[in-house]
Amino acid sequence: PTLGERELALRTRARRVIPGGMYGHMAVEAFSTAHPQFMVSGDGCRVTDADGREYFDLMCGWGPVVLGHRHPGVAAAVADQLSRGDCLDGTSPLAVELAELLVDTVPSADWAMFCKNGTDATTTCVTIARAATGRRKVMVANGAYHGAVPWCSLRGAGVTDEDQAHLVHFEYNDLASAEAAAAAAEGDLAAIIVCPMRHDIRRDQELADPAFARGLRALADRTGAVLILDDVRCGYRLDLGGSWEPLGVRPDLAAWSKAIANGQALGAVTGIEALRDAARSVYVTGSFWYAAVPLAAGLATLTELRKGTALPDMARTGTRLREGLAAQALSHGFQIRQTGPVQMPVLYFAGDDDVRLGTAWAEAAVENGVYLHPWHNWFLSAAHTDDDIEEILTRTEAAFATVARM
Ligand code: PMP
Repeated sequence: PTLGERELALRTRARRVIPGGMYGHMAVEAFSTAHPQFMVSGDGCRVTDADGREYFDLMCGWGPVVLGHRHPGVAAAVADQLSRGDCLDGTSPLAVELAELLVDTVPSADWAMFCKNGTDATTTCVTIARAATGRRKVMVANGAYHGAVPWCSLRGAGVTDEDQAHLVHFEYNDLASAEAAAAAAEGDLAAIIVCPMRHDIRRDQELADPAFARGLRALADRTGAVLILDDVRCGYRLDLGGSWEPLGVRPDLAAWSKAIANGQALGAVTGIEALRDAARSVYVTGSFWYAAVPLAAGLATLTELRKGTALPDMARTGTRLREGLAAQALSHGFQIRQTGPVQMPVLYFAGDDDVRLGTAWAEAAVENGVYLHPWHNWFLSAAHTDDDIEEILTRTEAAFATVARM
């Protein structure tokens, strides 16, 4: 693999002044020797790295970019608000407009609050649930990612047992384990937090069994716990009304971020009427939570998505991508697994438990100009046209050919 000169120089400088050269999910050295760590621009479904190499983007900024980089409508709203200011002394009126639009779009939402990140949103949901119930325990699925702060972090370093003392774990799609977790919480259960599907890293994605989703709803009702849907990753790609709408299961609180402002820093919490007072009672805030530009982006993004073509477009292009990849793998004699919704693909090779083959394939895809990931789900955007998908497939074909020769 050949990283560019600027990339290599930046990595050297970064290692001096940034711990590890980069951290979190942007520390590409953790997963690849071919993925560039630094990028300088994006346009539609393409991104450009620091060396000027262009890629078809199948990560979409790791989720936020749902309409495409620099979508004209969102870019205009951002530029317009930026020309008048962003961080002001009072909240932008756009917060009211966006809250109204969310309440109109999301059936389980009677109100909305805004923040910056998915972690802000999930943490705020948990705080509201505890305030509402006066209880402490929170049920979390094993391996589920709800953010990178101590109460929910999946990594041990710097996290104390006490930070997670009130978490009770259950197995995704296993209602009996959820019932057992609720029983273990013994009347102290404040909340059940759950993702619309299982999308843990390094494993196949698993759609929610409708009976499991309905069972969690019933369990929350029976125990008086708050059902929190963590729609941070799936939100705005599967169903605008919330990712469990197609299952007919409505949460009490929902956490949103990533795609809701097409790449601007915005998170949201929506909730039911019965939790309005609890939401009012908690003290949650942040210096940038009221900034106007991301709210303008959020309004433009939801307005565009409500026109109704983007989600069906992603379903169509995602289906074509999945079919194309399946055919290519077959023709090269590889057995692969593609799981979860087509708008959020992930691909693993059979028997490749350490993802070495998958990593080699992902690196070959990058070298052929398609930016995707070996063990984190990818994301499609509405900017990926049918022609873009065909072009992506000619490049992934080359990637399969490369690993077939190895
Ligand atoms: N919940 C889920 C399901 C997520 O996928 C993420 C981010 N990957 C988060 C919460 C945390 O969001 P953020 O990184 O914006 O804090």
